[in-house]
Amino acid sequence: MIIAKTIGEARAVVHRWKAEARTIGLCPTMGYLHEGHLSLMQASIRDNDRTVATVFVNPLQFGPAEDLAKYPRDFERDCRMLEAEGVDMVFAPDASEMYAEDFCTFVDMTMVSEGLCGRSRPVMFRGVCTVLTKLINIVYPNRMYMGKKDAQQLAVVRRMVRDLNFNLEVVGCPTVREEDGLAKSSRNIYLDPAQRKAAGVLSRSLRAAQEAIAAGQTESAEVIRLLRSKLEEEPMSDIDYVEAVDGLSMQPVERLKDGDLVAVAIRIGQTRLIDNFLVGDPLIDVLRS
Ligand code: AMP
Repeated sequence: MIIAKTIGEARAVVHRWKAEARTIGLCPTMGYLHEGHLSLMQASIRDNDRTVATVFVNPLQFGPAEDLAKYPRDFERDCRMLEAEGVDMVFAPDASEMYAEDFCTFVDMTMVSEGLCGRSRPVMFRGVCTVLTKLINIVYPNRMYMGKKDAQQLAVVRRMVRDLNFNLEVVGCPTVREEDGLAKSSRNIYLDPAQRKAAGVLSRSLRAAQEAIAAGQTESAEVIRLLRSKLEEEPMSDIDYVEAVDGLSMQPVERLKDGDLVAVAIRIGQTRLIDNFLVGDPLIDVLRS
């Protein structure tokens, strides 16, 4: 596996692959990898001749009060996991390689990025769109792989690719979960054992909402009320948002139809956790307590 730390090194490899007419899959990550990330790599390896993973904790997408400094990192472990998976190149630049001191160009979006996570993390999607634009311009992928766990991020990136005519396909990959249903996340490491147990409320509540919809409930307000009451059963959970939105525009809907997104963010202690389902998705697998 090639480890590229500079844009020049990554570009030289990509140039060679393009000359050989290889297709390239790109899997952007912030590292501290888990099986959720690895599922993106597996999908990319299946679909493309070459797979590039990026490991970059992007300072642009963290607000001043967020966890940039303490975001978990273990690059050597990440490399071992990526190599075992069969990834061809990892691109892991320093922040200074990506952002010159006088960097001043951003990719910004209205509407799709403004609600849900965009409301509580106002700089996040500008940071995501900007860094992905740079990574796409460095790697020239045929396909880019992103997790459905970050459903709004996926919708934002799909919209950016469409609006700005990026010549690639965005592939959404299913959420990989722990045994009790909690979506795998690098941030789960922040949870102490009691908080980790409490975090199970997120997927259990979403599963209850899925069951209500499967039983015929189509009123968003009712589904949101049910979700809120389930989440409030766990005293350690502090709700950030519970929303039902159109799956493409991220605008609130009153009546639910297939493809709409039901999304939740909560805080447990200092840790913010998100999860979601699309109406029509299979039921989330949760362990019954
Ligand atoms: P991150 O390192 O958290 O920025 O995530 C990098 C990519 O992995 C994003 O496209 C995420 O949506 C995806 N991802 C993170 N957690 C999971 C998961 N549990 N299942 C599937 N994809 C995930």
